[in-house]
Amino acid sequence: MKDHEIAKFVNELTKQANAFQGYQSMRVALSSVVHKHVVFPECKWITEEGEDYYDTECGNAWMFSAGDIVNNSVVYCPYCGKRVKDKSDE
Ligand SMILES: [Zn+2]
Repeated sequence: MKDHEIAKFVNELTKQANAFQGYQSMRVALSSVVHKHVVFPECKWITEEGEDYYDTECGNAWMFSAGDIVNNSVVYCPYCGKRVKDKSDE
């Protein structure tokens, strides 16, 4: 291989490597979106201080006769079936 051919080859490899890195970071970003919306979609529940019910992200309300999401062992929203995420403390 001549010098200019090697330079061209290295240039091409660099382009491929950059494209691959772009692909990899896109893959990571996509995977986190898929994970959040498809694998473990969440329904955010919010309760205000002093209220005894939760407003659900899917537009409903839920009330426990006692306790909260955690000590009632609630994992999935009964309305939309997504995982319940308590957003009250955030
Ligand atoms: Zn829901």
